Amino acid sequence: MERIICLISIEQDDTLTTTSLEAIGLTRHLSEQLKTPEWYIGVVGIPKSIELVNDCLTGLGASKIFVALHEEFSKPRYSTDAAAAEVICKAASPDIVIAPSTARWSRIIPGVAFRLNGTADTHVTAINVQNNTPLINRWIYRQRIELQLSRQVRPWFLTVEPAIFEPASKSKGSSPVEKIEVPVSTDLLNTEVIGFQTPKSSTQTIRPDAKLLFVAGAGWTKKQADGLVHAEEAQKLILEFLELTQSSLGGTKSVVDLSSEGNPVLPFMTHLNQVGQTGATPRHPKGLATCCHGEEPHVVGWRFINERRAVNLDPNCGWAQGKADVLYVADAFAVLRELNKKLSDSKK
Ligand SMILES: Cc1cc2nc3c(=O)[nH]c(=O)nc-3n(C[C@H](O)[C@H](O)[C@H](O)COP(=O)(O)OP(=O)(O)OC[C@H]3O[C@@H](n4cnc5c(N)ncnc54)[C@H](O)[C@@H]3O)c2cc1C
Repeated sequence: MERIICLISIEQDDTLTTTSLEAIGLTRHLSEQLKTPEWYIGVVGIPKSIELVNDCLTGLGASKIFVALHEEFSKPRYSTDAAAAEVICKAASPDIVIAPSTARWSRIIPGVAFRLNGTADTHVTAINVQNNTPLINRWIYRQRIELQLSRQVRPWFLTVEPAIFEPASKSKGSSPVEKIEVPVSTDLLNTEVIGFQTPKSSTQTIRPDAKLLFVAGAGWTKKQADGLVHAEEAQKLILEFLELTQSSLGGTKSVVDLSSEGNPVLPFMTHLNQVGQTGATPRHPKGLATCCHGEEPHVVGWRFINERRAVNLDPNCGWAQGKADVLYVADAFAVLRELNKKLSDSKK
């Protein structure tokens, strides 16, 4: 019988992320599939986080919740996070440890696996059970080959990708909570966390949970039918659309490179927005590409977008070559102007 634990952290603003709830949901699902009656949650947070644990986690069906609380755990720091995870795992003696693929957990999981003589696999996109053995899926070689594998080494640590698994929902009963003491000696505090550095962006444009991926290509920055570049209008139309639809913004390599070269055209576009072979492979139910040619190195990043539409002036662009479900041969400026108007009218 496999003992499974899901490790999560409480965020600095005292919230639980959807990604954490997804990892818990997967842990519960796996324990059901493996017919493992006991599964646990391990929480790293500050003393105040106990309220959130009692309010939001005790009703999810876990057999027990191990909590490691300390003021220093508000900061994502390798030494303190790894110490907390190690102590929790020693208390729970799990065979399988699941954690969300966030920067914080991805950084420490391999090290904690090493300390506990275990093994780690990252970026897991599916877990299935065959003959009572868990099998994980992960992509390799930049999402070109999908592997399915199992391991015999225990504990087996897995970081799971966001936006794939169902978040945990309320269940019957109330889980007991066990507080775990983690000694935080001064040598664990050698690294001082001084804050976050994020790419310059005037607005939050990457929303992994959004229903729609909106891609802006370099066409927005090119001369239009009147022979002029309409940079300001492009910015206004795109930001207004993002605001109205709460979609996530993707960019092509061309448009992203332009912005980082100091071109004022789309200043909110950073390399984090780049979708494609050398960019991200986001997961959204729908995608709309605008002023983007639909070349293969870009479209390869749309692998997990289920329904694809594009707006391009060129009826022979890449999207027309079987890469989109619908191609609107139209001026994206005119389309967005009209769309934004309809969307804001519908909100009145
Ligand atoms: C090794 C390698 C890796 C790469 N990795 C990536 C990657 O990760 N991601 C990526 O995106 N690219 C990548 N590329 C680059 C990729 O091949 C293309 O060059 C890039 O995607 C083109 O960007 P674009 O479509 O925005 O620009 P363009 O090719 O310049 O296309 C602009 C489009 O806008 C249209 N347009 C202009 N005005 C309007 C309007 N008013 N209305 C509607 N349409 C309009 C035009 O018809 C045109 O089709 C890579 C290339 C290589 C060689």
